[in-house]
Amino acid sequence: MSEPLYLAPRLEPRLASLLDSPAFLHPLVTALGSPLNLVLPDQIADNVRAFRAVYARHRLGGRVLYAHKANRSSALLRRLAATGPAAAVGVDVASLGELQHALGAGLTPDRIVATGPKDPDYLWLAARTGVTVAVDSPAELTSLARLVERFGLPRVPVLPRLSDFAAPGTRVLTRRSRFGTPAADAGPLLDLVEKHGDSVDLTGVSYHLDTMGLAEKAAALDGCLRVLDEARRRGLRPRCVDVGGGFGVDYLADGAQWERYTTELTRALLGRRPPLTWEGHGYGLRGENGTLRGTLSVYPAHRPVAGPRYLDELLAQTAPSLGRPLATLLLENLYDLHTEPGRALTDQCGLTLARVLEVRVTAAGERLVRLAANARDIGLEDHGLLLDPVLVPAAPRPEGNGGPPAGSGVAAGSGDAAGSGAGAGVGVYLLGNLCLESDLITRRLVHLAHEPRPGDLLAFANTAGYFMDFTADHALHQPIARKVAVHREGDTGPWSWCLDEQYWPHLTAGDDA
Ligand SMILES: *Cc1c(COP(=O)(O)O)cnc(C)c1O
Repeated sequence: MSEPLYLAPRLEPRLASLLDSPAFLHPLVTALGSPLNLVLPDQIADNVRAFRAVYARHRLGGRVLYAHKANRSSALLRRLAATGPAAAVGVDVASLGELQHALGAGLTPDRIVATGPKDPDYLWLAARTGVTVAVDSPAELTSLARLVERFGLPRVPVLPRLSDFAAPGTRVLTRRSRFGTPAADAGPLLDLVEKHGDSVDLTGVSYHLDTMGLAEKAAALDGCLRVLDEARRRGLRPRCVDVGGGFGVDYLADGAQWERYTTELTRALLGRRPPLTWEGHGYGLRGENGTLRGTLSVYPAHRPVAGPRYLDELLAQTAPSLGRPLATLLLENLYDLHTEPGRALTDQCGLTLARVLEVRVTAAGERLVRLAANARDIGLEDHGLLLDPVLVPAAPRPEGNGGPPAGSGVAAGSGDAAGSGAGAGVGVYLLGNLCLESDLITRRLVHLAHEPRPGDLLAFANTAGYFMDFTADHALHQPIARKVAVHREGDTGPWSWCLDEQYWPHLTAGDDA
């Protein structure tokens, strides 16, 4: 058997200590069923503070707006509502339901930006409550202005979303987007803002690019600053730029594991080592007569520059046309900076537990582990994230086989990560509970330090951003995971929990305004 290839999750202390609490986790799943989602509201408050520190370093004002679509949790949103200062923390909503949810969580309209495609109901509630609207197109701006006039509403703050940023020449510097108004059409858009000046107040402009490229984002921010210059020349009074989300997360504890895994995956696809995936699945790659074709379409699980650090590096970039650091340009113009991190603000904010139902060995010797959960409950594969679960055994494993100490869930995934030979580990495929050939929770061989047994739990760490409830549904009448909020006093207090919808900040959160 070849050396195990681990992709151990990066675990910060709060999540690590939760995973290392089998006596807390097992009864929860017994009571509430599998799968079960846990969220850590206190972590999102810490993550907001880490973003705020970058603002402080660059002496910038403005809001960190949590992109709600990353997770449906009420607890995370309510904890955010209690995280201050109010002038610096808010939420980005992308649907009528999310807007209602945010208002109901205690976020006042001045702390909410409404993005995404809008239907008339969404637009009306946004206008009526006076949240900031990131208008997607000239047509949407016109619809909004009409609503304001028809119902005699106060002027609505607008933050038009721009896209397709080009250099002063012609070359488009950013990827095309189906959202936003092309920056080249900013002139007519500003005409419209002026025409409807009694109904809308241009507070700034925004973009959101689904890319990791710093240069692309710097080009977009530069383009926004130029549109704001033009707006000021026209006598408008914009005061902020919203740079959207996409700051990313570093999911892995050890970057070397990622290098090794991707190398071995390509070798396996070329037939130079035993397969690492189910039925030769290649995550976008395939071997053809000894050459590799296609592109690896997975999330770069190892991202050393992610989250607040990514923002820091973006702000330090030189604006391609304006020629100076972006942070300096923002500061000199007294523009506030709004950010909309989704994934990055939910980093380390939760995990998904699934019970092992069956372990089966095929005639070909493959170990199949069936879980009481499916690929829609645990959206890792769907989103191209390759990350090991952590084994949380029901009963302590006997010592002496080289694995990590029994009951030490944290070490389970990462134990003997370098393949020291002490623990051989066991390679398994994780199957879901749907009566569907395609319901694999992992299409790759996942290495665990011990063979799982029925009744054990597998904990999927760091699922709060998009992997927890984004795709979950009632297919085959299988239950959708319940969600609980967990909390502990200080760093060592006992863990306590409540249902996500029962969580209110006054129960746990300190005064951190
Ligand atoms: C999805 C989205 C975000 C958040 O993106 P992340 O990659 O999760 O940070 C922010 N703003 C808008 C407009 C979005 O659609």
